[in-house]
Amino acid sequence: MGKHLVLVGGGHAHLTTLSKTADFVKRGHGLTLVSPSAYHYYSGMGPGLLAGTYEPRDTRFHIRRMVQERGGAFVQDRVAGIDAARRLLKLHSGNEIAYDVVSFNIGSGIRLPADTEEGPWLVPVKPIENLYHAREAIRARRARPLRLVVIGGGAAGVEIAGNLWHLARSCEARADIVLVAGGGLLDGWPIRAQDLARRSLTQRGIHLREGERALAFRAGQVKLESGAHLSCDLCFLASGVAPPPLFRQAGLADPEDGGLLVNDCLQSIADPRIFGGGDCISLAGARLPRVGVHAVRQNPVLRRNLLAALEERPLHSFRPRKNFLLILNLGDETGIARRGAFSGGGSGLLHLKHWIDRRFMHRFQVSGEAKDLRPGI
Ligand SMILES: Cc1cc2nc3c(=O)[nH]c(=O)nc-3n(C[C@H](O)[C@H](O)[C@H](O)COP(=O)(O)OP(=O)(O)OC[C@H]3O[C@@H](n4cnc5c(N)ncnc54)[C@H](O)[C@@H]3O)c2cc1C
Repeated sequence: MGKHLVLVGGGHAHLTTLSKTADFVKRGHGLTLVSPSAYHYYSGMGPGLLAGTYEPRDTRFHIRRMVQERGGAFVQDRVAGIDAARRLLKLHSGNEIAYDVVSFNIGSGIRLPADTEEGPWLVPVKPIENLYHAREAIRARRARPLRLVVIGGGAAGVEIAGNLWHLARSCEARADIVLVAGGGLLDGWPIRAQDLARRSLTQRGIHLREGERALAFRAGQVKLESGAHLSCDLCFLASGVAPPPLFRQAGLADPEDGGLLVNDCLQSIADPRIFGGGDCISLAGARLPRVGVHAVRQNPVLRRNLLAALEERPLHSFRPRKNFLLILNLGDETGIARRGAFSGGGSGLLHLKHWIDRRFMHRFQVSGEAKDLRPGI
């Protein structure tokens, strides 16, 4: 007798399972994807989407078609609660979905200080779609000088600041760009990479404020710890991510980190019917950085384990890689790469990044998708 698998979120770690929907259906199981959008955007191309190097259609997977064309069901909604005892998911719409096995790949959100007045001028860099909307807003306002602030000196903040410069130049906007780095630029990265990033940004006139933290965001004003205020038209928030509160509310979270606490089979420690991957999980015994590389590598393990859990077979382990390649797109036609202690920069690395990203898209985009020329999200 077939069982029901529910995938919550069609993120980077669920792509293989989604592309193999027909295998689950052929074996008599039902597969339902719950997602707020029919598309999932590939974060690695987010900075290029902001700069105008890519269009939305280049950077997204049509996850509704991926599942529906292969015999699964798609529910456009958001999971708002988990009743693990009754194996029920509560949806934002008020509906409920029952599952035999469920897997979460719902990502993470940008952490905001308590003193934050949200508004269209504040742009969290996740979800990635926000970067497209910001790009269009900048193009529309390019006739007058723009003040742009980026909060966060990590990989995402560096890429966003550099690609805002690229965007402003390509649409002939006059933009004053400030990057408030929190600690130092690219903290935890090799010194060589930090120097390369610093030089690339400052040579282009991007103002770096290292060792300064943002405390409050109100009506177009960013208040810094030093007491200084920065006025801006748009403020991009790349200040670190945290898992959504869903797992704490359901008693399934790592108490410190808030992610769905899973074992090395990507299975919840608290409930063997629950699995997860990507930014929303916390792997017991290993604090993994929240990067797409891990989510992507979890794909085959999740697919095998979800089928095994439905059919009560043994599970496989996920072994995270200690050393993995990250390449940042600096927005000046160069990239900075890091793998363990190695780092380097140059235009060849950016070409390599574009090649890796396009190959990944090609692997999971459904047929005809790249030919979809409708503009916008
Ligand atoms: C600008 C930027 C650039 C980056 N570049 C890189 C890079 O080059 N390399 C790298 O390794 N990492 C990169 N990262 C990190 C990367 O974004 C994350 O690690 C990655 O997105 C994690 O993938 P995920 O599938 O877990 O989450 P997400 O990509 O956030 O996907 C989550 C999905 O779940 C859906 N969802 C959310 N909530 C719900 C809900 N309640 N119910 C149902 N569905 C829901 C969302 O719609 C979304 O489709 C970058 C991050 C940023 C911000």
